[in-house]
Amino acid sequence: MRTLPRSLLRPEMKDVAAYATSTASAPVRLDRNESPEEMAPQIRQKVLDALSRARWSRYPDPYSAEVKSVLAAREGLASDSVIVGNGSNSLFLSFFLAAGSPGRRFALCPPTFGLYAPWIRAAGCGVALFPLGEEDLAPPVERMLRAAREDPDLAFVLCSPNNPTGTLFPREGLVSLLETRALVLVDEAYVEFSSAGARDLLPRFSNLLLSRTLSKAAALAAARVGYMLGSPEILSDIEKVLPPYGVNLFARAAALASLEEDAAMRARVAVILAERERMARELARMPGARLSASQTNFLYLRPERPAAELFEALLSRGILVRRVAGTRAEALRVTVGRPEENDRFLQAWKEMTS
Ligand code: PMP
Repeated sequence: MRTLPRSLLRPEMKDVAAYATSTASAPVRLDRNESPEEMAPQIRQKVLDALSRARWSRYPDPYSAEVKSVLAAREGLASDSVIVGNGSNSLFLSFFLAAGSPGRRFALCPPTFGLYAPWIRAAGCGVALFPLGEEDLAPPVERMLRAAREDPDLAFVLCSPNNPTGTLFPREGLVSLLETRALVLVDEAYVEFSSAGARDLLPRFSNLLLSRTLSKAAALAAARVGYMLGSPEILSDIEKVLPPYGVNLFARAAALASLEEDAAMRARVAVILAERERMARELARMPGARLSASQTNFLYLRPERPAAELFEALLSRGILVRRVAGTRAEALRVTVGRPEENDRFLQAWKEMTS
């Protein structure tokens, strides 16, 4: 049989990296920034009851009108300022497709979420890198502003708080970038764990888009629901390349139930934040790694020993964390889990580094 030459696809695909997620498993899983707790059993039951009454043979409305209107009300926005997708990942893809005119470049601040660059390249666009500072993990805002002024077509994808460093993009820098009229997407997947988001900037800047997810604080990673907030003109064009019915009946039911349990979500977040601070305090007393202040549900550790070695040592103790790109050497990202899981991590870390 003849094998097909790869050139039948877009030539860029040869250089596109596949999404790397660990296939390892371990009793203590702190590698994916998920919620350690489930939604309350009575809410889950409500979802199952609603599903058993629903018609499964019919398409739902194409673009999740009900979820949109609940999210819009929660954010104090009109329904057409929200689009909903099959996880925020699927919204990124639609965004790059809609925004990625030939020759356009998207600016990223590495180390950052690994999906942006491959999908920008797959959309036939270029990536302009503005790495975070080695010491302070701060983005080079002045350089980014200059680049925005030199190339008005340059678009920005900022992850704030950033995965993997857990740090925020500085507020004044974001405002200055928006003032250049550049298109800016801020991925706020972890905003519920942080002290500040950019929601309040939406009325001032129609060139700002925010991406959010129910996969983290809302404890719904398996349901795959994400959303984008922004100006109706931009969102309606992105929605044209969002698969219709992309958020299925089951995901919608789970999303609606989760949006009703706002108080429970806040309580879950409060526990995670308390645990994050406890872990940070304990880690600060131990040698072995530099720890930066986190605005997320994970910690970013820049270890003295090679990250790969520590990763394996943790795995052999039944704890799975994530090896991530660093500013220079590889780093480790540790999700804040349940208190007893965090204790196991801290105990293992102590044994390994003292
Ligand atoms: N953005 C960032 C920065 C993330 O870390 C993740 C989760 N890995 C996502 C988006 C993915 O979100 P979703 O589950 O909504 O596709």
